[in-house]
Amino acid sequence: MERVSEKKAATAETSVRRSGTRKGHGLALLEDLGSVIGHSQDLRETLENVVKIVAERMGTEVCSLYLLDPKGDRLTLWATAGLTRAAVGKVAMGVDEGLTGLVIEKGEPVMVVDALAHPRYKYFPETGEERYHSFLGVPITERRSPLGVLVVQTLRRRRFTPNELRLLRAIAAQARGVILQARLVESLQSKEKERQEYRTRMVDAIRRLHAYEREGERPKAGAKRRPGQYRLSGVGASPGFGQGRAHLQYPDVTLDDVEDRDSDDPALERERLRIAIEGSVVEMVRLKEKMHTLAPEIDGSIFDAQRMMIEDASFVGKIESRIAGGKTAESALKHVVDEYVNAFLAVSDGYLRERAADVRDIGQRLLRNLLGHEERERGFAADVVLVAQDLTLSDLSVMEHKRLKAIVLVTGGVTSHASILAKSFEIPTVVGVGHVAEVLHEGDYVIVDGNSGVVYVNPGVDVIREYQRLAKEYRAFNLQLEALRDLPAETTDGHRVNLYANIGLISDLQFAHEHGAEGVGLYRTEVPFLSYKDFPNEEEQLELYRKVIAGMHGQPVTIRTLDLGADKYASYLTDYQEENPFLGWRSIRISLEMPAIFKAQLRAILRAGASGPVRILFPMISSLDEIRRIKELLDEARRELDELGEPYDRAMPIGIMIEVPAAVWLAPRLIEEVDFFSIGTNDLIQYLLAVDRNNSKVAPLYEPLHPAVLAAIAEVAQAAKDAGKWVGMCGEMASDPLATLPLIGMGLDDLSMGPFFIPVIKRFIRSVSFTLAEEVARDARSLGTAQEVKGYLFARLKELGVIELMDMYH
Ligand code: PEP
Ligand code: MG
Repeated sequence: MERVSEKKAATAETSVRRSGTRKGHGLALLEDLGSVIGHSQDLRETLENVVKIVAERMGTEVCSLYLLDPKGDRLTLWATAGLTRAAVGKVAMGVDEGLTGLVIEKGEPVMVVDALAHPRYKYFPETGEERYHSFLGVPITERRSPLGVLVVQTLRRRRFTPNELRLLRAIAAQARGVILQARLVESLQSKEKERQEYRTRMVDAIRRLHAYEREGERPKAGAKRRPGQYRLSGVGASPGFGQGRAHLQYPDVTLDDVEDRDSDDPALERERLRIAIEGSVVEMVRLKEKMHTLAPEIDGSIFDAQRMMIEDASFVGKIESRIAGGKTAESALKHVVDEYVNAFLAVSDGYLRERAADVRDIGQRLLRNLLGHEERERGFAADVVLVAQDLTLSDLSVMEHKRLKAIVLVTGGVTSHASILAKSFEIPTVVGVGHVAEVLHEGDYVIVDGNSGVVYVNPGVDVIREYQRLAKEYRAFNLQLEALRDLPAETTDGHRVNLYANIGLISDLQFAHEHGAEGVGLYRTEVPFLSYKDFPNEEEQLELYRKVIAGMHGQPVTIRTLDLGADKYASYLTDYQEENPFLGWRSIRISLEMPAIFKAQLRAILRAGASGPVRILFPMISSLDEIRRIKELLDEARRELDELGEPYDRAMPIGIMIEVPAAVWLAPRLIEEVDFFSIGTNDLIQYLLAVDRNNSKVAPLYEPLHPAVLAAIAEVAQAAKDAGKWVGMCGEMASDPLATLPLIGMGLDDLSMGPFFIPVIKRFIRSVSFTLAEEVARDARSLGTAQEVKGYLFARLKELGVIELMDMYH
């Protein structure tokens, strides 16, 4: 024992000497750890190195790191220097057990001179720790939540000095980053495992089905099959109701099946790749033409974007370089596609994340061409509900749509291209139905409710009847609303409101027309920007904006300048991380910091204005300085266009979004600077009520009808009216029928929303008088809580006999 202490003392001495002074010792240790962590490749190895260095340099016989599981109730030994290595990953304890658990329980360091004598001491035979007496454990925390415990132990009974305690705490803080990464990797691995398991189950189900069909094991006539009845929930991605027999689809060959294989003939592999690229490009061009004939309004750029990616020099270059490194074309392709997919999945923006599906689609197409398989047209003998893990643009393009009554997807989001196409073809679609493969079999009878995102598998007669009734009503309701398409949104006493569409993609224009939009109230230009690898240049933007303007046939188009940042991240901004992105570098703040890019967008919008009526809208304004600076830049942009002799709209109206509380109180001043206001309630509500718009935990607190929100809208509307200017709303609240009466009663001139909601809002407006709407707005504003406001509005709508309209949408 004596000798060991002496040896350790000598080691400590060495460390002191190495770092010069005793005071510098801790700093040097932290620096060394920083370097180990900074060069971290493998997390377990990094943690092993951390504990090794700490034990060595603090002169303790043991240093161990325990991590808390995601549920927060068990601690597991992740790395140790001094305890038996075999215990790593095996020794685990509840947070109410042992001295290590006590650290979590107390949320503060625990120091014990003789651990063995402590009532909370728990002995784990695997560790061989019975020899160690003194214990010092400090919690590792992230924003006050515990992540784990860092422990040092010594053979000798001793007290740790305040300096040692401070040092261990600093080390724990430093280790936090690596642990967070470890957690992330773990969760990704478990997601991948889940995906694999899911795939195995799906493949099994399909195999069983094929065997069943081949061997003619169909139930004997008269034999009663009692299929499982299920109600599954997902997200409605394309509205309407559809029913039919389930058809499970699984691609013939998938990239997942490709193994990592070497080749001894790189030249041959490169040639195979070249032929596959050529074949894929030809297919894409044909597909675009075919889609154009089938649905001319569909945004063909989706196909162009995929074709460009297939030919992209850096994408192809990466595959070629793996081929040059000795891989087969298939394994090289799989590797590069996985790399891209992971990069897309790593970004927080939902729209961009869904582009991962496009890359997979491209990979799949190239793989099929590499293997020399033809693209097959798929027809269906009877009405089917297509059930798939995921559906690519290509899958959907080669399907016969007449018999395709609905789509159910395990993955996918509402902005995925498959969803966009499904909407264009009016195929009711529900996505994100996690457990469908476990319960659904080929041939099961399925009802899909694309409005509320529900899927019924083998429903009982009551549900079938109910849905048949609903589908009939829905058709009648849509016909009725369609009849309203060309009528104005006018109250019974002649007050007009403009109903506009919010759009992001060219393909949205079709919905805007179908549902009778009178213009575009919000064109979110960041949506197309997000799909570019770099900022699109002025000419590319001009072309895009002109397409939108041409598509609206002379109706006004409100183009909002870039609103990037927060939850909308472009790949070219991803290096930037913030603690509070919604309060950070987003939207107009980014534009004003990048005047060259901003002015290119301003010029493109001004020029586009020469081809039709355009209004320009600036997001996230919170001060007069911002709008004044914007106007200076607009003047510069105009001057530059004058110098170039480019035609542009000199009188383009300019407006700002009111979505930051500061702008509400500044509204009377801000309106002097602009032609109109557009209230962005999605952000305004989150900033006014301090409720994150994307956090489901606080979703019940996100109340559009909160009296403070109504007060803010009223103030803004009044400021615009007083100045004789116009005011609209383009946040989601504009599409809530419950809010329609108070909103028009407060004097909003335009309501802009997802096109699908326009008919129903029009129906509301056409059923009431403006005088009544004003009265309802006044009454609603006099109430003290959101609950009271909602109760009051429901009662009024019931009285007016329009409440049933809401059931269709809510
Ligand atoms: C809003 O904040 O209400 C709005 C329309 O903008 P976005 O949803 O694009 O942030
Ligand atoms: Mg906003």
